[in-house]
Amino acid sequence: MKQKLRAIRSRGTSAGNLQTAARTTATQRCINPSCGARFDINERIYVCSSCGGLLDVVQESTRDPEQLQTLWTRRLASFESRDRSGVWRYRELLPFADDAPIVSLAEGNTPIYDAPISAAYCGLHALNLKHQGCNPTGSFKDTGMTVAITQALILGAKTVVCASTGNTAASLAAYAARAKLQCAILVPRGQISHAKLAQSLDYGAAVLELDGNFDDAMRVIRELAEDESIYLVNSINPFRIEGQKTVAAELLHQRGWRIPDHVVVPGGNLGNSTALGKGFAELMDLGLIDRLPRLSVVQAEGAGPFANLFKSVAGSAGVSTALLSQHSTSDWSAWPALTPIEDPHTLATAIKIGAPVSWQKSLRAVLASGGTVLSVSEQEMADAKAIIGREGVGCEPASASTVAGIRRLVADGVIGPDEDVVAVLTGHVLKDTDYVIKYHQENLFSDGDVLADRRKVASTYRNPPTLVKATREAIIEGLRRHTSTQDTV
Ligand SMILES: [Zn+2]
Repeated sequence: MKQKLRAIRSRGTSAGNLQTAARTTATQRCINPSCGARFDINERIYVCSSCGGLLDVVQESTRDPEQLQTLWTRRLASFESRDRSGVWRYRELLPFADDAPIVSLAEGNTPIYDAPISAAYCGLHALNLKHQGCNPTGSFKDTGMTVAITQALILGAKTVVCASTGNTAASLAAYAARAKLQCAILVPRGQISHAKLAQSLDYGAAVLELDGNFDDAMRVIRELAEDESIYLVNSINPFRIEGQKTVAAELLHQRGWRIPDHVVVPGGNLGNSTALGKGFAELMDLGLIDRLPRLSVVQAEGAGPFANLFKSVAGSAGVSTALLSQHSTSDWSAWPALTPIEDPHTLATAIKIGAPVSWQKSLRAVLASGGTVLSVSEQEMADAKAIIGREGVGCEPASASTVAGIRRLVADGVIGPDEDVVAVLTGHVLKDTDYVIKYHQENLFSDGDVLADRRKVASTYRNPPTLVKATREAIIEGLRRHTSTQDTV
């Protein structure tokens, strides 16, 4: 079996003709305005070799916006596999030639829901939830991974590797399996949820538990990436951002190109906000939209280095772009460096990151759109998650930071009650069922260094199971009691 797998892998990756696949006008460009160095689209590089800055994929496009809209809508009824993917449907936005060896699991195509209960909870008249947790492996990571693994094939990589708190690992493992590439996953010991570990194991990845935290894992894989046959697929990888940016197009397409006033996303490694910001900006450059939605990022209080930076420069949430301009702080490159948090704490493991690699790109996107950055408590996140659940929409804890953050921004007057708001949910409820069960059974404690730091999270909207006798009367009484306790929302 092993030999067979190896043979399949070598057929899949050593085909020289794949090397010719990317005939595209795209290049990689250093984001540092004082550098701006350009590199070939197929140069295996993760940061600028001149200054160490992050890289953007850039390409000139002069497509007619109406033709694009028509083409993308026509593809909704197509049976071609590229058109069935919610990422590759928008391939005019991606840096690949037509014959690229696409690795797809029909990702994207995620629903956008009306969420009246969450809206009322936030103090809004209406709220949309764009549920990226409905991707093939249950998180938004799939939209980036399909593109990054396609690029790995073009580069002739043998092994793909990432350091991950879980969702990236599960996604990479799945797409590597599809592409017949070896997959190595480095995870901080004890910091991975059961469901995410189960996914990575099932997809055949080598899961290596590290005696260290997420940032240690990041450091060691940067060292590994110097090996030519290894391709690094963390969110520093600009091709993942390319895939994730198509969510901006899908979201607007689903809304008939009606531009929201605000788009709010959770913030961990900040690849998500970076990608959406890039997506909206490129759609505006193409003429598909005439303004940017205000893009805001919500972090967990115990893992909020980006929120801390934003607060230290811009003051409290809600400082307008106009005010920022007056203080010459609208230029992201003039901002002080982000101070990492050595030992981040939050139960929302998907955003438990102390040194987010994409903070400059995310800051650029937030400032360009006039958005803001804030952090919310474990209590706010847990309650918001239960409220989202009452919509019949299940998400993982990190996703609920959005609704918790929107509620705060409405209370602070940053978002008006009549404004058009989209919250991006990033992971599926089944990603972390331990958390859900503990919340509803009043046994959820916040994460802390020592036992003394652990605080009980109040189960404000709990819905615990109850034991009843096996009689008709007992069941009717049980239902009556359940209704009376659940009416509080
Ligand atoms: Zn540079």
